[in-house]
Amino acid sequence: MKEFWSKKAAAITPYVAGEQPKIKNIIKLNTNENPYPPSPKAIEAIKEAANDALRLYPDPQSTIVREAAAALHGVDPENIFCANGSDEALAIAFQAFFDDVVKFPDITYSFYPVWASLYGLVPEIIPLNDDFTIPVKSFLGGCCVIANPNAPTGIPLSLDEIEAIVKAADGVVVIDEAYCDFGGESAVPLVKKYPNVVVIRTLSKSHGLAGLRFGYAIADANLITAMDAIKDSFNSYPIDRLAQAGAAAALADKAYTDNITNIISETRDKYSVILTELGFDVLPSKSNFLFCGHPDAENIMAELRKRGIIVRRFGSERIQDRLRITIGTPEQMDALVNALKEII
Ligand code: PMP
Repeated sequence: MKEFWSKKAAAITPYVAGEQPKIKNIIKLNTNENPYPPSPKAIEAIKEAANDALRLYPDPQSTIVREAAAALHGVDPENIFCANGSDEALAIAFQAFFDDVVKFPDITYSFYPVWASLYGLVPEIIPLNDDFTIPVKSFLGGCCVIANPNAPTGIPLSLDEIEAIVKAADGVVVIDEAYCDFGGESAVPLVKKYPNVVVIRTLSKSHGLAGLRFGYAIADANLITAMDAIKDSFNSYPIDRLAQAGAAAALADKAYTDNITNIISETRDKYSVILTELGFDVLPSKSNFLFCGHPDAENIMAELRKRGIIVRRFGSERIQDRLRITIGTPEQMDALVNALKEII
């Protein structure tokens, strides 16, 4: 099977992304996408960029996006690194900042162990507490990557807790803020205070642009230079012209993003109560998904699927009896609740 494969290719166990089904008319609550369209200004900018200039390579520095992200976060463009999705920003951070041991929780974004293995690092897996919160004390010292809010639990750490981890670290602390816009506290203010913190953001969730593939890092200029060095040894042009135009316009339209994230957060809080009433053990989420425990989780997921509703379940032992349900529109959530009432 693996004839002609390099040792590296033969040894890895790749990350498996959530399903993108071909069937239409399904209610897709399995990959934490945004149920609402992106900013009309982003669509307009992408259309404008789809012109004769596509003959030419894009700006390798993604200057217009660095400037838009810097203006949004109150930092300088030299504090921004742009990537083809935050997955790429994270993969580059793993290569730029970790040489040996890297800590992360046992239950977190399941891409972290894959990158650790791909880049020959030693993962130090820290078990979450019984209530699925992050044991902050175990993260003091060393290097680490933490999703805040964590995924798939949705539970956030406070800025004070993140600061304690950054202060105590021996190296770089990577904070993955994929879901932060839904009620988490961002660690961006720490970037000005500490030389060893990297915040990773994405347009895939709060900006409704998962299909555009754009993510970025915010950090001290010295760390950004290291990320640029890795990127320029790998791909000079990860952000195409369409993505640069769309990302810059989306980041500039803060009012649109804030409105959408507020709607999704309100829907989440409402349906968190309803799902609890239906018998689920719902963790307190500040993200755009709910992590819902039920002894019959596997069967419920299969029954939902028969009714055209897709949610996600993970294989690892501690969370086998939980479903991760992305927050959809109120109409989609009502359809979910009606289906659950039939099933349970
Ligand atoms: N971090 C976390 C915690 C995620 O759940 C995801 C989405 N799978 C990502 C990063 C990657 O998002 P993207 O590459 O679409 O920016």
